[in-house]
Parts: sequence; C-alpha cells; structure tokens
Amino acid sequence: MNCPVCGSVSAHTRLETWLDPVDKASYAVLRCAGCGVEFADPFKNPGAGWYARFSSAAGYEETPKPHFKEVLRGQDGRGRLALDIGCGTGVFLAMAQAAGFEAYGIDINPEAIAAARAKGLANLFMGDLNAFREKFPGLKFDLITYFDCIEHLDDPNAELDRISSLLKDGGQLALTTPNTDRPLPFGRDYFDMPPHHLTRWTRGALTAFLASHGLEIVRLDSSYLPVWEFSRRFISALRELAMKAARAVLLPKGTPDSVTFTAAAAAGAGTPGFLRSARTRQRLVKAFYDVLHVFTFPVFFWMMLYYRLTRPGRGTQLFAIAARRG
Ligand SMILES: [Zn+2]
Repeated sequence: MNCPVCGSVSAHTRLETWLDPVDKASYAVLRCAGCGVEFADPFKNPGAGWYARFSSAAGYEETPKPHFKEVLRGQDGRGRLALDIGCGTGVFLAMAQAAGFEAYGIDINPEAIAAARAKGLANLFMGDLNAFREKFPGLKFDLITYFDCIEHLDDPNAELDRISSLLKDGGQLALTTPNTDRPLPFGRDYFDMPPHHLTRWTRGALTAFLASHGLEIVRLDSSYLPVWEFSRRFISALRELAMKAARAVLLPKGTPDSVTFTAAAAAGAGTPGFLRSARTRQRLVKAFYDVLHVFTFPVFFWMMLYYRLTRPGRGTQLFAIAARRG
C-alpha cells in the first residue's frame, strides 16, 4: 500500500503485527521507506463504537499538559485569535484566554463540550473541522493547537489541509504527538497500538509532513523525558503481567479478552466482599501505584539521566510549532 502520509510506494519495512484485543482484528505496523513514518495496515479509524469499548474507563484530562505553557510562553494574545482542536473540557482554552487570546474550541465529544461550557468558556463548537468551517466561513486564526490528535487519523493529509486553510499567513500551528524514537525499556502501551494510534512519528517524518502542507517548522522539541514516564510504564507493565496471571488463575478458559479488564473481573471470583465496590477498589489500586511510584523514583531517575545523556532529543513527545508560509 502507499504510505498514507507521503504517498511513497517504496518497499515498507514490516515492524510488527498486532492483534487488537477489542475486536480481534489483525494489524501490521509498517515503516515508510520514503518519509520514515510508521503506519498501521489496514489504515482505518475503527469508529465510535470501537472507541466506546476501548476507553469506557478513561475520563477527560483535567491537568494541563507540560507543553501547554510552552505554546503560550512569550505570546501576547491581545487582539489575536486562537483555535484549540480537540479542546476536551477546555483546559488549554482557559489558559489561552488568560494569555489574552480570543480562544475558540472544537471537540467531537458532546460531554467534553458541555463540561467546558459549565466552566464558563465561550466560542465552543461540537463537531468536526468541516462543519466548523461551514459555520464560521472566512474565520482565520493566529494560533491553532492540535495536541495528540494526528496519530489517530486515517486521513492526516486532508486534516492538515483543513487546518492550514484555517491559519492566517504567518499564523502558527502547535502540535504534539508521541515520539516513536523514545526509549521503551518496558515495551509499548497498548494505546500506542493500532487502531488507536494509526501513525507513529519521528522528527524527520513530522517535519516533511508539515512542509508538504506549507508549514515551516519554527521549533521542534523532542527532549521531554520525565522520570514518571518510566515508572508509569514500568508499573503498567507489571500490572499487565499481574492481570495475565490473574486471568489464567481466576477466570475460566475461553473468557473473552478485553483491554478494559481490571481487577473487576477477578473480583467476582473469590475476592473479599469489601473489595467488590468499584470505588474502593479504584482507590486502593491508585494508592498502591502511588506508593510504587515513590519507591521506584530513585531507580528511574538514573534511568532517565542515562537516556538523556546517551540518546539526546529522544524524549516521549514531539512538540512542533510551525508557521504557515505567507
Ligand atoms: Zn511516507
């Protein structure tokens, strides 16, 4: 198949295959010989039904991400327009507004939009970019933010065309996506697998992709590598192992797999009564992991330092700011 990003038909390298536990579909992950992006085959967004099953337990993020501040650093937003695509409950919108921007937010999730409204935020739009452009024809922005979205798309080129057309000449796009060159000493999270993430990006692939849409890199930072990223992944790897063991011991053979499987499933099979309350269980699990985080911190601090020194610029995130050529 052609590279869904650059269109190259050169022989792609097959990196791995993955059986999606949600709908049992099989995916290959290929690396494009042309631009270096890694992409899923088949290359298709699995749809709302899949997402509902995949992330039934996940809530919306309420803590600002580390790069939110970076985007706004030194920016005087007075008299300028900003658009946050995939704004969620409006965490970044509120910050952009405080920096003086007239900030618009767009999200496909009605609950997130309702939560943002409840915070008193205005200029919110529920729907996709096509519908947004129809509702506000001719509206163009000085700053568009696009955090952790591109890796989910099965039409990244069409989306970037839409985004680029919403930027003023010289306007800036700030974008983040996971860095596929990050260290993975404890393996990869399942949420980085297809069809949840359909593309994985390197600095080079992202730069070429943005350039092909008339966007010139102003800043590309890939050094973000916090200690907690190692302890988080270590603990979730432990947790995956524990779940596998729990499944093997507690559940009858042939029980369907589910990525949302937690101690909840095991709780039905011989867990003391007080642990059957989902809330109590969640709290205990959280407290347990918090303690683990604290105890493993010294170890992972050295690990972080090691990677920082031996693989500079290979942090967890790619954070790009690109300007639309006038
Ligand atoms: Zn390519």
